[in-house]
Amino acid sequence: MTEKYFYTEPYARDFEAEIVAFDPTGLAIALDKTLFFAVGGGQPGDLGLLTIEGEDYTVEDVYAADGTIWHKLDRALPAEFKGKGALGKLDWERRYAHMRHHTALHVLNGVAYNDFGALVSGAQVYADRARIDFTMDDLAPQRIERLERECNEAIAKALRVIPREVTLAEAAEMPELVRTVNAMPPQTAKIRTIEIEGLDRQFCGGTHLANISEIGRLKIAGTRSKGKMNKRIEIVLE
Ligand SMILES: [Zn+2]
Repeated sequence: MTEKYFYTEPYARDFEAEIVAFDPTGLAIALDKTLFFAVGGGQPGDLGLLTIEGEDYTVEDVYAADGTIWHKLDRALPAEFKGKGALGKLDWERRYAHMRHHTALHVLNGVAYNDFGALVSGAQVYADRARIDFTMDDLAPQRIERLERECNEAIAKALRVIPREVTLAEAAEMPELVRTVNAMPPQTAKIRTIEIEGLDRQFCGGTHLANISEIGRLKIAGTRSKGKMNKRIEIVLE
């Protein structure tokens, strides 16, 4: 089980860790703890560098399997490096862009849920944009305008973003925190909830800003109907 340092220190850019496992190819390694977010929930995995025994290795992909986070490197490491130290350095500009766009989707999700009861049927974050699919039958221009205006009003209030961990039993008592349509509450021992003070609270395993003021101005760049009850909204940040 890898310690998810990106949860306890979401603004840290570099870290020291120990190599604890190799996959059979030697191309992917696991560390005792990591700042590298593993791809999931519509957020890409982090990129960056690991320096091991004085040499830089590029982290090309980061994925999780059974609680272990694997860092795929640009070339194989000698197996005797197990137990050695590694210095990690994130591509911070990219990760911070993911945090901004991901947190912006929470704001939009919170507003759309509060106004229209919209649930999420899909979402994808990029470094320069994001999209989210809602269970809504109507995306008339007045609704788009209202969503965008209310998102920016919330951002102007500089609301704090508060992560919390709850137990499985506690999570079972909070079904309204599941915002993905047809999804169950997560089934891990500790479950993260992300609250935007006074606006929204939901289960989420991504990385987030500490305050929504860091989002900047949210602009709805496009919409698309993906079905009668499935509407896509694309956002950019200015
Ligand atoms: Zn999230």
